[in-house]
Amino acid sequence: MSRILIIEDEEAIAELEKDYLELSEFEVEIANAGDVGLDKALKEQFDLVVLDLMLPGMDGFEVCKNIREEKNIPIIMVSAKKEDIDKIRGLGLGADDYMTKPFSPSELVARVKAHLARYNRLVGSHLKENDIVEIRGIRIDKTARRVYINGEEKAFTTKEFDLLTFLAENPNHVFTKEELFREIWDMDSIGDIATVTVHIKKIREKIEFDTANPQYIETIWGVGYRFKI
Ligand code: CA
Repeated sequence: MSRILIIEDEEAIAELEKDYLELSEFEVEIANAGDVGLDKALKEQFDLVVLDLMLPGMDGFEVCKNIREEKNIPIIMVSAKKEDIDKIRGLGLGADDYMTKPFSPSELVARVKAHLARYNRLVGSHLKENDIVEIRGIRIDKTARRVYINGEEKAFTTKEFDLLTFLAENPNHVFTKEELFREIWDMDSIGDIATVTVHIKKIREKIEFDTANPQYIETIWGVGYRFKI
């Protein structure tokens, strides 16, 4: 549920806005002075602020400027004077929208919804999803370097993780121990290929239900290993 902060000193207006926003399923808080509102806006988690211009404590200009320095949540500024709105626009304080009082509460609700939708799209597009490899009950989160087997997280060492990820990303492909050693240990392998065998054994203990009868990493005798699709 989105949380809205109304910073407004006229109680009747604040309550009316609150009622309408709550009817649209928003959670609403009211602050009746500029300094109180700013404090709330900075300390608590809100998704949008409706900010009156003429306020006791600190005026809307200052409140807007101070919120903007810390947060990029949408701010809708309201004022009784059209001239003030023009002045705020000119100042470029960073408000997202301006409304002249009196306005209909449903107009406010519509604008609140529009700004929240736009903001959420913007924020959402900046969040990168983790790079995930998923095969039959094994979920490898490459970004977080975590492995889940049937939903349960298992601890892997760096090389175990790299080896499992490499095999899982290249399923149905047989790799020799030499190839795997070169790929994961990043140096020419001469005789150290036993390391690969040891790591495969450790990985199997973590991912296989029955290590004697592996369902994921198969041993291709005389050649190497293959991750089953
Ligand atoms: Ca006022």
